[in-house]
Amino acid sequence: MSFFATYIWLTVSKHHHHKPSALYAVYALSVTGILLLIITQFTGLFYYFDDHNLYHRGSFYLLSQAIAVSGIALCFFMLISYRKNLDRIIFLSMMSFFVLPALATVYQALAYGFSLQCLAIVISTQIMFVMDTVEVNMRFHSQQAAYEKARYEAEHDGMTGLLNKEAGWKRMRKYFDCMDSRDEAMLMFVDIDDFKTINDTYGHTVGDFWIREVASQLRHIYRQDDIICRYGGDEFLALVRNTASEHVLETTLGMFFQQLTRTSEQHGQDVHCSVGVCRIAATRIRRNTDEGNGEDIRGEVDFDECVKQADLALYETKRSNKGKFTVYNYTPPPSQNPQISAPRSGLKV
Ligand code: GH3
Ligand code: MG
Repeated sequence: MSFFATYIWLTVSKHHHHKPSALYAVYALSVTGILLLIITQFTGLFYYFDDHNLYHRGSFYLLSQAIAVSGIALCFFMLISYRKNLDRIIFLSMMSFFVLPALATVYQALAYGFSLQCLAIVISTQIMFVMDTVEVNMRFHSQQAAYEKARYEAEHDGMTGLLNKEAGWKRMRKYFDCMDSRDEAMLMFVDIDDFKTINDTYGHTVGDFWIREVASQLRHIYRQDDIICRYGGDEFLALVRNTASEHVLETTLGMFFQQLTRTSEQHGQDVHCSVGVCRIAATRIRRNTDEGNGEDIRGEVDFDECVKQADLALYETKRSNKGKFTVYNYTPPPSQNPQISAPRSGLKV
């Protein structure tokens, strides 16, 4: 009784409320019952055994039942009053602690023999244990789902479904941290041309449509493990991993521009993008050691420098080659100074 009342209390209280007087009353009844049971061993208060070792109810047998029934009634009262704070599944499993022993008590009041009350209590505690475990599992899964949802929302841009700037930046930097001079990649800024005019001419809803459209086309063209994020407004940053192939660059951007032109024509709106690419090609730098053997030097790829170069390349496109792309080649150097090649004009589409 005491443990059950404590269990109810702990399940609902979360240690926030004062202990209810019903809980203290259950403790008092339990202690009284235990003391009287000890006294019974010497006085036959509740029960005794005769000379043939047969069990008989004592003159205060009903008191023992009254103590048990009062304690259980108090637990029942606690459970009902806390009903709203309990999950349905937990509430029902706790109810089994009353229903099963009550049925067993009714049966046992009429018949001697097998100790059904104890069995009923054991069964109901098993039910409570199983249901509690199920409920904890369910709560764990729903908390995990809520956490995943919150994490997704924190990392993604609501409008396009792409990574947001912070999350994209973090992933790209992580990738760059693991790169050395033998790895290749391409980092590119994509920006919608004269987007302000699109907004002003067709309205912000149309503007939103084009932001989503460009995002969707970029996602379509690049692979699942490339990193694409909405950098802000009408600007996107994409990291194409493990390749700096000019062929791949020209093919993918060619497809992107063609698709954009096709959609623009479908909607009768003139929408273009400019792209600035920082191409990080593999280099194999060797220097001679004192023993005369060659040794690979791991060139460090500077993420911030690459972003800067992609941004400069975009600026160059906007300035002299709008609607196309410009590539700056970045060579991860063994020294501190990155080598930047002269700008090269983009593909004519
Ligand atoms: P440029 O060719 O030099 O890129 O000119 P631009 O007009 O595209 O560039 P600018 O950066 O001046 O304007 C970007 C505009 O994008 C400004 C802002 O009002 C608009 N914008 C930013 N976020 C959103 C958005 O979520 N939806 C819409 N519809 N417009 C946005
Ligand atoms: Mg723009």
